[in-house]
Amino acid sequence: MLVVMDKTATAEQIDQVVKVIEGQGCTARPIPGGDRVSIGVLNNKGPVDAALFVGLPGVKEAVPITKPYKLVSRETKAEDTLIQVGEVTIGNGHLTLIAGPCAIENETQALTIAGHVKKAGAHLFRGGAFKPRTSPYSFQGLGEEGLKILARVRENFGLPVVTEVMDFQTFDLVEHYADVVQIGTRNMQNFSLLKRAGESYRPILLKRGMAATIDEWLMAAEYIMAQGNHQVILCERGVRTFVHHSRNTLDLSAVPVVKKESHLPIVVDPSHAAGRRDQVLPLSRAAVAANAHGLMVEVHHQPEKALSDGAQSLFPEQFDLLCRQVMAIFKVCGEDEPF
Ligand code: PEP
Ligand code: MN
Repeated sequence: MLVVMDKTATAEQIDQVVKVIEGQGCTARPIPGGDRVSIGVLNNKGPVDAALFVGLPGVKEAVPITKPYKLVSRETKAEDTLIQVGEVTIGNGHLTLIAGPCAIENETQALTIAGHVKKAGAHLFRGGAFKPRTSPYSFQGLGEEGLKILARVRENFGLPVVTEVMDFQTFDLVEHYADVVQIGTRNMQNFSLLKRAGESYRPILLKRGMAATIDEWLMAAEYIMAQGNHQVILCERGVRTFVHHSRNTLDLSAVPVVKKESHLPIVVDPSHAAGRRDQVLPLSRAAVAANAHGLMVEVHHQPEKALSDGAQSLFPEQFDLLCRQVMAIFKVCGEDEPF
């Protein structure tokens, strides 16, 4: 249930609705909108009676929510969510380019790549300090040292940084250094991590689980929002299929589907979808033509020496070309159809 208040509703009238909701043993979650406040009813065990609200002063209407996800849904909030990261706005009307290496390997590597991607037009820098690797013998990331290098990238280039958090224990540390905290595909249904992300003061970039349906992915976002953090950026990064020509299969249909279902921004990671460099540029062009709000791309100045994901990392010159092409496509296709 969503209680939509009049544009002129007073703070007392909103408070009164909150009390009625709490009186039913439910949680009230006020959601500020463009010109009015709506109040989501959460934690209800069964259907809530709209009659409880319709006669109250300041209430415009009480709308039942038909989706399992509520805060994430356009039924709850019709306008697109815009997320501010420093001077960068992520969401409808903007094309945000996030680029950098898979992993932070050392300071020279990070600063060299950051210099290239900034010059090409990237808005945010990415790089893992804690790496989820399939093999325990592979490079696991530099940990806190990697986070400190990311902070130096931000200082030197003015680029906000995105980096992955792998577990609850290191959340405080990662959130201290990161401008955007990433939750990777393998952790999309790590519910205690999602709850902690929901308490974070940082925006969360939530990757789609490699075997997750769109509903499961949106429910994962709901976990974060239900704890009070409404700054969630969804990231499509490919799902497991039977093919051998790429690491995963980029599900670009997720972009229009998510945009219809949810007000949250959605970006696309073609690098982890493809797993190989030669597919990254065409997939990036397609993602922008499909009206994704941004791209997250792996770039390395010496991919043959990269400690992780070298095969899918673009050379800096390839990233230059990508930026030029996707910005041109965005000019033509960037205007979204109204929902
Ligand atoms: C990454 O972006 O570094 C990463 C590990 O991605 P994913 O979780 O999508 O595999
Ligand atoms: Mn990677």
